[in-house]
Amino acid sequence: MKIRVGILTAPSIAYERHADTFLLKNVRIGIGFHWDRTEDQEFAGELTIRNNADGTQTAINTIELENYLCSVISSEMNANSPMELLKAHAVISRSWAIRAMEKPSHEGFDVCADDHCQRYEGLRRMNERAVEAVRATAGQVLMYVQKDKGLCTKEEICDCRYYKCCGGRTEVWRTCWEDKDVPYIRSVSCDWCDMSRQQPEQRNRIMRLVLNDYDQETKDFRDWQVRYTDTELDDIVNSKHPGIGHVTALEPLHRGESGRIDSLRIVGSERTEVIGKELQIRYALSKKCLYSSWFDVTHREGIWTLTGHGWGHGAGLCQIGAAVMAAEGKGYEEILRYYYAGARLSTPTR
Ligand SMILES: [Zn+2]
Ligand SMILES: [Zn+2]
Repeated sequence: MKIRVGILTAPSIAYERHADTFLLKNVRIGIGFHWDRTEDQEFAGELTIRNNADGTQTAINTIELENYLCSVISSEMNANSPMELLKAHAVISRSWAIRAMEKPSHEGFDVCADDHCQRYEGLRRMNERAVEAVRATAGQVLMYVQKDKGLCTKEEICDCRYYKCCGGRTEVWRTCWEDKDVPYIRSVSCDWCDMSRQQPEQRNRIMRLVLNDYDQETKDFRDWQVRYTDTELDDIVNSKHPGIGHVTALEPLHRGESGRIDSLRIVGSERTEVIGKELQIRYALSKKCLYSSWFDVTHREGIWTLTGHGWGHGAGLCQIGAAVMAAEGKGYEEILRYYYAGARLSTPTR
């Protein structure tokens, strides 16, 4: 089974073909997030350069799914992560990718290479332990059986979402995406990612295990605070939602089960706008993107303070929590059961 990965779109793609690989220059990663940067990346598989109608070009990499996963696990996780964490991640990344191939959200390829889909940074960060985790779980996915009046109606591969840190409670699907119940994405309390329980050395050890280098630049993501002056907030909000004017109130209208806001009213001197769901709110209130939409707002003496929890949408697996579970000896099946309650491991034959 092969997957088509859209790696980047640029006015013109700079690349070099080598014997079995190719090198793409100036690949942008973390687009729109706070770790946004560019680097050169090397890939296996086939390269296609597509000429787009607007004059730009897109580099598309076609590669065996299992090889794609080896790179994704290497990109998402540190090589020294506990093996059970890497295995859990291999299963959910595989499940997610197969779902994405059935219903691509991009034109002309199945997935992109950035955080929008799954981080896929080619061979440079590839490591043996990630490869071992993919091989050890070869073909395994999470599946869910829908039942109606006790009868099995249909079995499907789970759309396994994940993110960095839940902040203490995981979120349900409808807070982030469509208004539907996804039975294996439940809101569960998660103390695993509470690093205040850990001694500083243990905390640092786990953080080094879980996060690739650039993510270690991100501190205090479980409980965080952001402050803006009136002028700063007005500039940010109006750059994202023009014409609102001077912001006079930020009113959470609805929260999901973790506390993440999925509907927010921005009251301005010129007009009022209701925005949501969680990602739109995170973009609206930050130059780049807030850690999460789980926050309380205060406005005193010209200073807006957002006091928040968690990093990411919160639906599905909490990567930091799962890392701590694995570091404390839990197996990958137990980790998956915790964050995707009701789903089961399976190796479908295709
Ligand atoms: Zn994408
Ligand atoms: Zn957590």
